[in-house]
Amino acid sequence: MSWSPFGETEQPPFGPAPAPLAGPELPSFRFPFSTKTPKTFDGGTAKEATVAEFPVSEKLAGVYMTLEPGALRELHWHANAAEWAYVIDGRCRVTTIDPENRCEIVDFGPGDVWYFPRGHGHSIQGIGPGTCTFVLVFDNGYFSEFGTFSITDWVGHTPPEVLSKTFGVPPETFADFPKKEVYIASGPVPPALPQEPSPGSLDDPPLTHRYQLLAQKPDQFAGGTMRTASMLEFPISTTMTGALLIIEPGSLREPHWHPNAAEWQFYLKGSGRMTVFGSHGRARTDDFAVGDVGYVPQGYGHYIENTGSDTLELLVVLNNGIYQSVSLTGWMAANPDLLLATNFEVKESVFAKFPKDALIMPK
Ligand code: MN
Ligand code: MN
Repeated sequence: MSWSPFGETEQPPFGPAPAPLAGPELPSFRFPFSTKTPKTFDGGTAKEATVAEFPVSEKLAGVYMTLEPGALRELHWHANAAEWAYVIDGRCRVTTIDPENRCEIVDFGPGDVWYFPRGHGHSIQGIGPGTCTFVLVFDNGYFSEFGTFSITDWVGHTPPEVLSKTFGVPPETFADFPKKEVYIASGPVPPALPQEPSPGSLDDPPLTHRYQLLAQKPDQFAGGTMRTASMLEFPISTTMTGALLIIEPGSLREPHWHPNAAEWQFYLKGSGRMTVFGSHGRARTDDFAVGDVGYVPQGYGHYIENTGSDTLELLVVLNNGIYQSVSLTGWMAANPDLLLATNFEVKESVFAKFPKDALIMPK
């Protein structure tokens, strides 16, 4: 019988914790995404990490997608999740429609982020040169990219007579339309967008779906930098916050927790190690390489170390538009040394040289 902090007969008092987190040992918080084989389409690829593949990730799911020039991730919407994305490489064009029927068409490049509120229609097309690679994150771990509401699937399952009445064209018009979901279609690279809209043509929604995260001046710490896109910086992103963390060799993102959000991670560069603290004497450490996904349940303590000789870069995506984080250094700095001495049962002088403010990324 394995060791339990509750004794041999006592049941752990975890209450209604999700099953993967309910045991006396914590599960792995790493998903080896880079080793998974994507689904391939004409002009693109996609693979996903949902609770089906990564059971602990209940609140957030992710997709890694590539689009060749001209390849179109077709018009679709998501009934049960908002979509956040980060462009890793290449360029793409996005079209969106909001519930007031306003449309935004905008190009994305490396370091750009998009956010589509749940239910907003959208498409994504590679515009070259080269492959466009991006990561999508959804604020629902049960969301599957292969169960989206696609325009071809819908039109293909609508009788031609209804389509005829809807569009005011003969039913035969739809004879050659696909009968099932296309998902990714291949076509010509569209022409460049006009520099200036022609007079009277603009129909943009009031909030843009694009945020240029890499262009943001980062928060600078002793051991690295952080760029953050919460709804403060990116107002449309009301249910998700994204951040790009760059951690220098030998440094770490210090121990902290997020009171209001679970955390989904994608490792972009370097090598790292994350330890998650789950109370009841439970802590779990996993090593992360490029292409791996990590996850931290809401409120769980965690820290990330750079274990390599190069910078460690990762995306952090939280399922809340308001960014909240409490750091161990800041928490202790906010309490008197005498209290800390009592709490840790050591001399008060021990804390004289401790930081007097949150460090976030110490060197
Ligand atoms: Mn989508
Ligand atoms: Mn975190």
